[in-house]
Amino acid sequence: MSFASDVKDELIEKSELARAMGGMKECCIHAEMYGIFLFCRDFSSTNISIKTENQSVALMFANYAESITGKSYTLEQTSSGKYRVNIKKADERRQILEHFGHTGQEVNRRMYRSNLEDDCCLAALLRGAFLSCGTITDPEKDYHLEFVMSHKVLSNDLLKLITEIHLPLEDGSIDYNKNEFDPKYILRRGVHVVYFKDSESIENVLTFMGAPDASLEVMGIRMYKDMRNRVNRKMNFENANAGRAFDAAYRQIEAIRFIEEEKGLGFLPDELRELAQLRLENSDFTLSDLADNLKEPISKSGVNHRLKKILEMAEGLGWKG
Ligand SMILES: [Zn+2]
Repeated sequence: MSFASDVKDELIEKSELARAMGGMKECCIHAEMYGIFLFCRDFSSTNISIKTENQSVALMFANYAESITGKSYTLEQTSSGKYRVNIKKADERRQILEHFGHTGQEVNRRMYRSNLEDDCCLAALLRGAFLSCGTITDPEKDYHLEFVMSHKVLSNDLLKLITEIHLPLEDGSIDYNKNEFDPKYILRRGVHVVYFKDSESIENVLTFMGAPDASLEVMGIRMYKDMRNRVNRKMNFENANAGRAFDAAYRQIEAIRFIEEEKGLGFLPDELRELAQLRLENSDFTLSDLADNLKEPISKSGVNHRLKKILEMAEGLGWKG
């Protein structure tokens, strides 16, 4: 099963449970129903049907249609394994359209706000829309949630609706200036797509629509990826540092060996000789290690200064490091 299908199963399961327990208001049930029908591929006097890879979505569509017309509808399976429900009779299509205030003759399909009684209905409508025309990419691969439709005006209505969503703050108040989600729009091969690209918006949309488990899953993956990136960055940084330190130590040892061969370490002044000896014996010492192990400890920059002097003296003797 795809992640998108899992999300839809969760939305339907939680919605059905809420309805069974009397936990969903009539206005919200109506809005959810409207979302499912309005965002279907076909919603007109000549055709009302849904085609979906998710069996539960097709069943929900059939049940809602039945609740309006009193007729029962069967699920057909297409050759590609999708589920299809088709309202074949014209008068039943008319009943469904009228139920939502549509005539089916509209030039532009658009959202009739009369189907939304109150703010509580926004979540239900968005859930219905997602069940009908939405999809989400597996968060392991990418963060992407979208609603796809063939009507420009409808996509505008959906964008507007999403910007009207306001989640209560922790103290229960609402900041009406805050844009909770960050929906984007694109025309893709002739269809209109309203989508979300950042993981936090996706988590919020999922929670808002009623799929908290999926939201937590996305969040968990995001946190894991963030952590892994941080660890990787840190490791790369440390490796790069370790590499640089190793190169420097290697060069110092080369220079010291050169002096030793040319003149002997006695050639070096006392404070440089002690450091040169220490470096020769401890190629893995950092500057601080070297500093701490001198008879009279000095600062890191002091050690660095002395090492530079050793290199200069080696160069003075003809070393070509
Ligand atoms: Zn409501």
